[in-house]
Amino acid sequence: MPTLSNVEKSIQLCAAQQDLRAWMHIDEQGAQASAVESENRLGTALERPLEGVVVGVKDNISVKGMPLTCASNMLRDFQPLYDATVVERLRDAGAVLLGKTNMDEFAMGSSNETSAFGPVVHHLDPERVPGGSSGGSAVAVAAHHCDVALGSDTGGSVRQPAAFCGVYGLKPTYGRLSRHGLVAFASSLDQVGIFTRDLHLMARTFDVLAAHDPMDATSSPQAAGHAGDAVGQPPTSFTFGYLPDHMLAGCDEEIRSAYQHFLATLEKCGGTGTCVELPHLDLWIPTYFILATAEASSNLARYDGVRYGHRAESGSDMTTASRSEGFGTEVKRRLMLGTYVLSAGYHDAFYTKAQQARRLIFDSYTALFASVDVLAMPTTPTTAFKRGAITDPVQMWLSDLYTVSANIAGIPALSMPFGTDSQGLPIGMQLQAAMHADENMLAIAGTIAAAAQEAAA
Ligand code: GLN
Repeated sequence: MPTLSNVEKSIQLCAAQQDLRAWMHIDEQGAQASAVESENRLGTALERPLEGVVVGVKDNISVKGMPLTCASNMLRDFQPLYDATVVERLRDAGAVLLGKTNMDEFAMGSSNETSAFGPVVHHLDPERVPGGSSGGSAVAVAAHHCDVALGSDTGGSVRQPAAFCGVYGLKPTYGRLSRHGLVAFASSLDQVGIFTRDLHLMARTFDVLAAHDPMDATSSPQAAGHAGDAVGQPPTSFTFGYLPDHMLAGCDEEIRSAYQHFLATLEKCGGTGTCVELPHLDLWIPTYFILATAEASSNLARYDGVRYGHRAESGSDMTTASRSEGFGTEVKRRLMLGTYVLSAGYHDAFYTKAQQARRLIFDSYTALFASVDVLAMPTTPTTAFKRGAITDPVQMWLSDLYTVSANIAGIPALSMPFGTDSQGLPIGMQLQAAMHADENMLAIAGTIAAAAQEAAA
């Protein structure tokens, strides 16, 4: 693999396709220097597991020597002092860190329209959104700017843009990948996720990143990954659950028919399906938006104009003025909602209720995975929509209908590309599995990907 020329090609492609706005920052010199080192190591005893693999990192994950903005005016000039643990692990594994990718402001959004630096554009249709909030990472991988990208998935921000852009997007089990150095949005839901075009590379990257980290108090003690081996030996039989029709009511017709085709493919490659009634579908979105906004209102209190980020020049109340100027509309909406659901008098009615609903959702998944290996679902109710098409915030939040429950329950989930709609826009299908069954889920995805490829050939 001619590493330096690969990296140079990537840099040229990013420059030629700047209009996509997938990148916030490109570290040309740093990437070239690691490419030279990788070239020297490749094929020798010093070769590392991700030698020369070109990687983009979402701009809410700390990379020493690169800016970290969270696509917000609040952090426009912020320079982090250390590498996130996942970034350190990528460096140690020989990956070439190309730069930081654009996103929705503070990872709040489903379309990348909330970035303070301009929206990311879908690589196949300039009028459409790439999904969010990790849309820059999804486009960077889909448009071959890099091989792997990191994102963060609090309620679907890796899987939904992966589906819209036609690539793989993995949200691991909560705690499998360290959150040290990931800017907190909703700490009990946040998980670093991975984008790739290839499932084997996904598994190798997962294995490099999954590890216990003493710097993250919620890091899983059983973190080490063995997905590479699992995907190399895909199972010939497995069990899966699928959703009854009424749970698909919110989906476009084309997504519904792709889902039927997906289920038929699962059966063809050794899957035995059972229709599962997952209760509480109506609770998923409200539970997520109460918990996520409550946690965000607490996490984002640190941006006060004193210690981090933007400071207002004038105003009698410096903190209020700094926050008013630094945050965009969607972030403010979330912070106000979060503060409201935590406030005295409303706490029990909203926050405590949402915690109780979270337990019910978690229990329904535990019961489900006692009888099936994976649950098959669409990733999104629609394919990529046009920029500006959704103006009602609640309507936008509904794009996360099928993704938020995995974060609420802490379970692993993978979006895999599965064909296109009649306009040629990618469709994503999702697998979910029990906590810590990431490897088995990826292995099953390997079987399906092979069968889907055969069918397409
Ligand atoms: N789209 C969801 C939201 O707006 C999910 C965000 C995320 O996963 N970071 O909250």
